[in-house]
Amino acid sequence: MSTMQAEQALAAGRYAAIKLAPYFRPVLARMRFVANNDVPTAGTTAKGICYYNEAFISTLNAKECAFVLLHEASHLWLRHHARTAHYGADHGEANCAQDRAINPSLLAMGLPAPKLDGKPCCLLPKDINAPDNLSWEEYYTLAREAEKSQAPKPGQGKPSNAPGKGNGPGTPDPNGKPSKGPRGVANGQCGACSTGKDEPGQGDPADAPTDGELERASKAVSQAMVDAEKSKRGSVPGGFLRTAQAALTPPQVRWNQKLRTAVQATLRAVATGGVVSSYTRISRRQWGLGYGVGSPILPTYRAPKPRVAVVLDTSGSMRQADTVKALSEIAAIIKLTEATFIACDARVYDKPRTVKRFRDLLPLLKGGGGSSFVPAFEALKENPCDIVIFLTDGDITVPSSNPLPPSVKVFWACINQGYGSHAPTEAYGTILKID
Ligand SMILES: [Zn+2]
Repeated sequence: MSTMQAEQALAAGRYAAIKLAPYFRPVLARMRFVANNDVPTAGTTAKGICYYNEAFISTLNAKECAFVLLHEASHLWLRHHARTAHYGADHGEANCAQDRAINPSLLAMGLPAPKLDGKPCCLLPKDINAPDNLSWEEYYTLAREAEKSQAPKPGQGKPSNAPGKGNGPGTPDPNGKPSKGPRGVANGQCGACSTGKDEPGQGDPADAPTDGELERASKAVSQAMVDAEKSKRGSVPGGFLRTAQAALTPPQVRWNQKLRTAVQATLRAVATGGVVSSYTRISRRQWGLGYGVGSPILPTYRAPKPRVAVVLDTSGSMRQADTVKALSEIAAIIKLTEATFIACDARVYDKPRTVKRFRDLLPLLKGGGGSSFVPAFEALKENPCDIVIFLTDGDITVPSSNPLPPSVKVFWACINQGYGSHAPTEAYGTILKID
């Protein structure tokens, strides 16, 4: 084994991958390859840095290496790391389910799976008696159901097909988890590009591709697959093609309708939730009883006015087109109700301001720096609101737990569906994907 052998194997694999599946070029072009012999096989970060074991890679022929590269590129194309976090899935089980969703399409392309300790390193749907071409979320659920149904009842021992018993190293068990033998790429251990969880020693350098770049590359792969199929140039496996078509299909409900409906519902809920009485104004019904000494004083009643805050991500990652989209939505929101506006990149530039008209917004658009909503949350603590809408490309840090009172409705309006590693979370907000 030598460094040169591994590099030659990688180059041959890359050539074979691009020749066989040119539609993967946008993602493959952004992947970087770094030798790291602490990694058992190969693992890729969420930013496309592929750490590989030189001995493992050196053993692969061009087609096996293309299998590994396209497998890792598929995790990046499908943005699995973000979907695992969004789904709240167990990292290891999600990795296995995603491998089952990817591998059948690679085998259908005629690529052989690499071998580890003489056994194919390749989780497949049939391991859990499931059909090919389901989504990873479906394999995840099926594997969990199988696990539950096979769990030993009290008083019974381990089932005969329990993990680690007789399956041999690297062989998956029917419960959806690989056995205790060595795991590897395409067999439940593919790195943070699948799980979203960084592996020790497999970090991202500062100049790694951004989430926005990878998101755009992912869309380009889907588009290239659909185009290749239309023009009959190159054949795209059915599983990949269906996924690409689904990724490019606009959502049934436009996000801005969803946002406006949600805002209007919350406005109504707040407005009808409590009518407060006040003696600071004269009631309109007071005239019937007369004014002055001897006349009882009637209170005035009014519905509380919901307080809406809008926070715009003005960080450097927001493209001009994203900001234009966001501003048009803010304009629609302030037609419904006046709102407190905050522009935030990694700091809040002006004190939160009430905006009633679109032109009030323009002088407040400041930013271009880092990406963190934490200062915006601090500003919101001092400016109570009932609804807060964050408009962002998703590539921004948010607090891990909600610093606002639980009664405050939080909406994350995410442009281009991009997610960073500390991205908007459903833990305390509703994510609305902006197409
Ligand atoms: Zn994988």
